[in-house]
Amino acid sequence: MEPQTNHEWLKDHIRDIPDFPKQGVVFKDITPLLADKKAFTYTIDAIAHHYDRDEIDKVLGIEARGFIVAAPLAYRFTAGLIPVRKKGKLPWKVETEKYELEYGFDHLEIHKDAIEPGERILIVDDVLATGGTAQATAGLTERCGGKVAGIATIMELSFLHGRDKLGAYEYFSLLRY
Ligand code: AMP
Repeated sequence: MEPQTNHEWLKDHIRDIPDFPKQGVVFKDITPLLADKKAFTYTIDAIAHHYDRDEIDKVLGIEARGFIVAAPLAYRFTAGLIPVRKKGKLPWKVETEKYELEYGFDHLEIHKDAIEPGERILIVDDVLATGGTAQATAGLTERCGGKVAGIATIMELSFLHGRDKLGAYEYFSLLRY
């Protein structure tokens, strides 16, 4: 299906879960979108459509829901796939970055050899909230010698102003809340 400019219909496939994982947070549950063949295919196609596949060497997915979006994009671009994971999950030598979440602090890790010098990396996740996760991941990418080709999420929570943290990086999302 050819992506449209108005992706709003996808919102019908995103479920709001109030007070999860803690009081005051409205969790954006993408499992209904993933379970719907039209919505999931469209989501991947619409993000892919925004980029030139020849300008992306690897797609980086942020644990855990970022993996679900990153893997089909990497396959579509015939690009490599890099997992960025929470502390202690990756088995080899890592670079680590502390970051702030909408709900707490955590650490993200990448394998030191995940990126070749100068490779163009598309960073992918499901939700941009405060932007801390994406910002930390962009930092990890650059520390490993990569160039951030873009940052893409299915949706952004614009009231949290995550974009402001991303500075000059190219950022793309299908949906805004
Ligand atoms: P942030 O670093 O604040 O931009 O948070 C983004 C990360 O936390 C992403 O990996 C999201 O999956 C997750 N996240 C943050 N807020 C939400 C939310 N309201 N609903 C679903 N996921 C969220």
